[in-house]
Amino acid sequence: MTTNDADSTPLMRQYREIKEAYRDAILFFRVGDFYEMFYQDAEEASRLLNIALTSRDKHSANPVPLCGVPYHAATAYIAKLLKAGRTIALCDQVEDPKSAKGLVRREVVRLYTPGTLVDAELVPPDETAYLAALIASDAAAPALPSTFGLAAIDLSTGDFRLSSFEGEQALLQLQGELSRLEPRELLVPDAADGALLEPSNLARGCRICAVGHEAFDLAAAESALHKQFPASELERLTKLDSSAGLRAAGAILSYLRNTQRHGDLRHIRAVIIHQHGDDMPLDPMTIRNLELVRPLASDRQEETGNRHTLLSVIDRTVTVMGKRLLREWVLRPSLRIDRITERLDAVQELLQHLETRVDLRSALRGMQDVTRLTGRLALARATPRDLSVLKQSLAVLPALRPLLGRCRSTLLVRLYAEWDDAADLHDLLDGLLLPEVPLSSRDGGIVKDGYDPTVDALRGAMRDGKQWLLELEGRERTRTGIDSLKVRYNQVFGYYIEVTKPNLSRVPPDYIRKQTLVNAERFMTAELKELEERITGADVKLKALEAELFDRLVERLAAQVARLQSIGARLALVDVLAGLAEVAALHRYVRPEVDDGETIEIIEGRHPVVERLDLEGGFIPNDTRLDRETHRLLIITGPNMAGKSTYLRQVALIVLLAQIGSFVPASRTRIGLVDRVFTRVGASDNLAAGQSTFMVEMSETAHILRHATSRSLILLDEIGRGTSTYDGLSLAWSIAEYIQSAPHLGARTLFATHYHEMTQLEGLRPGIRNYRVAVQERDGDVLFLRKIVEGGADRSYGIHVAKLAGLPAAILTRAQEVLHQLEQGGQSSDRLQNPEPSERDRSLPAPHPILSEMKQMDLFSMTPLEAMNRLADLKRRL
Ligand code: ADP
Repeated sequence: MTTNDADSTPLMRQYREIKEAYRDAILFFRVGDFYEMFYQDAEEASRLLNIALTSRDKHSANPVPLCGVPYHAATAYIAKLLKAGRTIALCDQVEDPKSAKGLVRREVVRLYTPGTLVDAELVPPDETAYLAALIASDAAAPALPSTFGLAAIDLSTGDFRLSSFEGEQALLQLQGELSRLEPRELLVPDAADGALLEPSNLARGCRICAVGHEAFDLAAAESALHKQFPASELERLTKLDSSAGLRAAGAILSYLRNTQRHGDLRHIRAVIIHQHGDDMPLDPMTIRNLELVRPLASDRQEETGNRHTLLSVIDRTVTVMGKRLLREWVLRPSLRIDRITERLDAVQELLQHLETRVDLRSALRGMQDVTRLTGRLALARATPRDLSVLKQSLAVLPALRPLLGRCRSTLLVRLYAEWDDAADLHDLLDGLLLPEVPLSSRDGGIVKDGYDPTVDALRGAMRDGKQWLLELEGRERTRTGIDSLKVRYNQVFGYYIEVTKPNLSRVPPDYIRKQTLVNAERFMTAELKELEERITGADVKLKALEAELFDRLVERLAAQVARLQSIGARLALVDVLAGLAEVAALHRYVRPEVDDGETIEIIEGRHPVVERLDLEGGFIPNDTRLDRETHRLLIITGPNMAGKSTYLRQVALIVLLAQIGSFVPASRTRIGLVDRVFTRVGASDNLAAGQSTFMVEMSETAHILRHATSRSLILLDEIGRGTSTYDGLSLAWSIAEYIQSAPHLGARTLFATHYHEMTQLEGLRPGIRNYRVAVQERDGDVLFLRKIVEGGADRSYGIHVAKLAGLPAAILTRAQEVLHQLEQGGQSSDRLQNPEPSERDRSLPAPHPILSEMKQMDLFSMTPLEAMNRLADLKRRL
């Protein structure tokens, strides 16, 4: 955009001035009933929104590209642009065009960025939209920095949290935290280390926004925090957090002050500090692989449709506040037995007291999103409708108190003791608001009669005005003798007298003609003009007064945000506890015993998600025992498809559920607290980043071996599959030995493998035990029994499974032959390579498909890494 463009009208000059301050955003510039975009913004927006691109003055030499959207539909377009990763500056007319002298004043009233959204249309109620800021310590570290400060805020709720990560695991912990928060937008210092910003190191699908390094300045951060928080809170913060977290928090506050001009941030009052040791640090692989909150398939194109997750199976909450809290619990299983026990006690009580549970849940159903309504209050974005909804929600609070009063468990007793009916706030709202209120506070029709004498008087004047008009109509009919004469009103002309064509001859001379229609003429009289002024005057005054009273109400409520936030938090907690009790009742879950021992004992455990699928023959429960002495590492063998992965995941999910504070799908369970769950299962998305399957498998295993402790739970599924049989087996074997014997390790481990040779470890090492998934062989077919039994499988049944999968009979027969010979130890490769062709063999295509693939490979056009990957891939398929 250049300033010597043809269009230098005052409007375009104003546009350019404003645009200058928002170069990175698409500027929605309000002109009349449209938001218009110009220049590059117009080109980009028309493409992204699929709307017509035109130009402002087609005849000029340098026409200005233009596109526009109707103002009332702007939100939908904004949502689309946000999705495409853009930010939007909304520029409104900030004075009434009617009363403006010259050009209407315009200002950017809001900047929409993915991390600062609060509108219900833009952030689905059960999702969070965190804005995060990340800073790496700027110590003169040669390689990657090892201290990270991370702060995050959900502006819609005021949920503000910070953490810092130090030491060897810092990057990994940071990644874990990012995958829990799933921020929509991440602020980093503009000079941030490029390696740190690799998408694989950070949250995916998040907008990364480089801001000036000074935004992360410690002194500035402290002063920003000082302004935002009460002194006591600030003191707590500085005590608990290293400077990195505070600096990140400072960057967030300064960004918000720049983007949220209207409305203060007073709902950001307390900060959650994540302390190491309170929650289980789940790494991104585990969150993904165990499908805690998102099904794996959704990473591809939601091909399987509606898939369950752990969260979806245990979510019986009835409020969105509860939904958000449950998600938080699922992603942060606790490491503190006292907290887990408190939750379990409450769930148990609500499970046993059906009536209390039912009553609580039905009262909660009347609750709207008090937390987000509070957020909008604080940001001065609450509408009359919002307040009306808040009023309805607050009205339900008193009904919940006596229900909690029936309870005896610590958490519920505490909730009862702290319960706040907020009757005063409800009365404040109820005193002012009419039962039905409009969306905008500028339209009037908000304030109840009797609330304010001036409102009543103005309304009276308007009512009288209507009466006067009726009387005037009557008088004019008599005076003119025109029975069909009408006094009417429209937006453009105001009040007028309408006379139909045939009666025009009787119109008196003092009538002033205003408008001619096909069948009628419209007139004005001096008396009507005066009446009109009185009525519209009253109307304008009334609307202004109602808006002012509304703003004052918002102001008074906004002073109570801390209280309203606590109410929201309590409602969420009751909802989650009652929801977990409901799931326990519905799905027959039992209370787990959680202690600080090292034994995990699960009797008749079930996979919470798989058991919900419609399985033929139902889900077969299985027992598990893991302990320090005799059952430290379980080797689980069995054919593919037998149920090994399901079993592994089931154990981990039961442990996680227990530490979340939920009942579990089993008939009895004892869980010796697990400090961390590690998983090496399934495919990984790093494949897309160009690493071979085998490489990913090994680096994930290396990570586990480095970080697991004797309190951890490790799931290894088919380690070594990505390489040749002998390589794979040897690696799997030595990894198992290492876990069992390395002094810092000895983690409780489930090791699923199809290498039945691994079963020999049982006799050689203490603590290693063999289990297998039982199958029944009948007439050469296998029948999966899904039952885990002691002992190892003596063979793989791969060929049987291949048969189930429908491979041609010829291949199966030949495979049997080869297998037989290999098992005989007969390395007579001659025979393997030159089998006597049987009838069926001849029908097989001669060269191995992998050979023909290799022939076609153009080695010279490949990078060494590509070649390695291809090779690994071919090997895997052999
Ligand atoms: P593996 O890891 O041995 O190849 P999976 O764990 O993937 O096998 O299980 C294959 C299928 O078997 C699962 O999709 C599930 O439908 C079914 N399955 C697994 N475990 C059970 C069980 N305990 N009861 C009933 N069906 C099961």
